[in-house]
Amino acid sequence: MDFRLTDEEEAFQTAVRRFGDKVLRAHERQIDVEGRIPPEVLGPMAELGLLAMPVPTEYGGMGASATLTELAAEEIGRGDFSMATAVFFLLEAGWGHILSRFGTEETKREVLPPVCQGKAFLGIATTEPTGGSDLAGMRTGSRRDGEAFVLHGEKAFISGVEEAKSLGGGHLTLSKSDRGGFNLLYVPTRSAGVATQRFVNMGRMGISTGGLTYQDVRVPARYLLGSEGKGFEYAMEGFSVARTFVSAACVGAAERALETGIAYIRDRKAFGQPLGKFEGIQFELVDLWTQVEAVKWQCRRAAWLLDTYTLRGDPSHRSEVDRAVAAVKLTAPQVAFESVKRVMMWFGAAGYTKDVGLELGFRGIMSYLVGAEGGLNIMRIILGRELLGREYLPYK
Ligand SMILES: Cc1cc2nc3c(=O)[nH]c(=O)nc-3n(C[C@H](O)[C@H](O)[C@H](O)COP(=O)(O)OP(=O)(O)OC[C@H]3O[C@@H](n4cnc5c(N)ncnc54)[C@H](O)[C@@H]3O)c2cc1C
Repeated sequence: MDFRLTDEEEAFQTAVRRFGDKVLRAHERQIDVEGRIPPEVLGPMAELGLLAMPVPTEYGGMGASATLTELAAEEIGRGDFSMATAVFFLLEAGWGHILSRFGTEETKREVLPPVCQGKAFLGIATTEPTGGSDLAGMRTGSRRDGEAFVLHGEKAFISGVEEAKSLGGGHLTLSKSDRGGFNLLYVPTRSAGVATQRFVNMGRMGISTGGLTYQDVRVPARYLLGSEGKGFEYAMEGFSVARTFVSAACVGAAERALETGIAYIRDRKAFGQPLGKFEGIQFELVDLWTQVEAVKWQCRRAAWLLDTYTLRGDPSHRSEVDRAVAAVKLTAPQVAFESVKRVMMWFGAAGYTKDVGLELGFRGIMSYLVGAEGGLNIMRIILGRELLGREYLPYK
């Protein structure tokens, strides 16, 4: 067992941290206010190879490991505290990986290079207005008709609907196949019959969330991932990858919150002493730091498991991967949210202002508590299933 980063990983981490410190921090408020990630951010991200990092080089990516991508996600979560850039990053990484693993050659050559250059968006569409946790209950359907699939239905709370319309691109879209099982299809947002709607969120404003409706959309058969009826499996692999990167972004945000808090409680005085001298605050810092440190290594281990098994198409350690990913997605957002909340309180009234900016993280991380990439209780259900057995699932 060796916990050190390799020289290559360390150099990469330093480069992404520099990008986060110089570019992301300088733009995070603008991203929040304008509701978009500007080209001054996406351009350098593409140049650094940060967009859809795990995609193989022949399709424009850097063929990065999950471990390297996890390290980048930590830095991006630390750099843009609003989480918008982290969401953009992890969607491209997670779903770019799935498209490169299961997409047809033609689709990969068409879709992935512009995604890696930041000239197109790639996301995931599973959630529907009737619910996101119970995917088996979805209503959107698809049927084969000659050289196309015909898609009908509606998705809701989908990240990147505006970006996919304005930049180009689309979403890997899960639907029920009329022949049984699920189809995962790449659906360009500009296809005839697709309509979009933007929702007004409370945070991570730089990336849109919205609805997609499909009115008998004809999706070319080459846009089907893998085999007909098997889409659920591919989506679940994508969620394992994306949830690991979400957690990494939460680790980065939590570290930034604590660094901000440490600098403040060293200087700010009350009752003639720096706040950091009061055990009520010092011990809180120590407890939070311990939790963030634990979750960081949980996260890096999840990435290691993905590299060692899942990304190689090896299902032999599926249960171990599922446990590691669900555990970290259950813990990381809670630890990050608690870290931001506590540091806001150390700042007193100033913590409640936009000048200090902790509220950016507060609003952004909340998205992972309410449900983005799977609600906390869904992580608990996965872990309960793994610890007790399938017969203890709360549903059939
Ligand atoms: C900002 C944001 C961006 C998002 N982006 C995307 C996206 O890009 N693509 C996409 O497909 N989806 C996206 N989602 C949707 C997300 O996947 C869903 O929010 C999530 O799956 C939960 O679905 P739901 O919101 O419909 O809640 P529901 O499924 O209605 O659940 C409501 C609550 O009940 C809990 N719950 C559900 N079932 C159980 C149970 N059996 N036992 C105990 N508790 C339970 C849930 O954990 C949740 O807290 C996004 C969500 C947000 C907030």
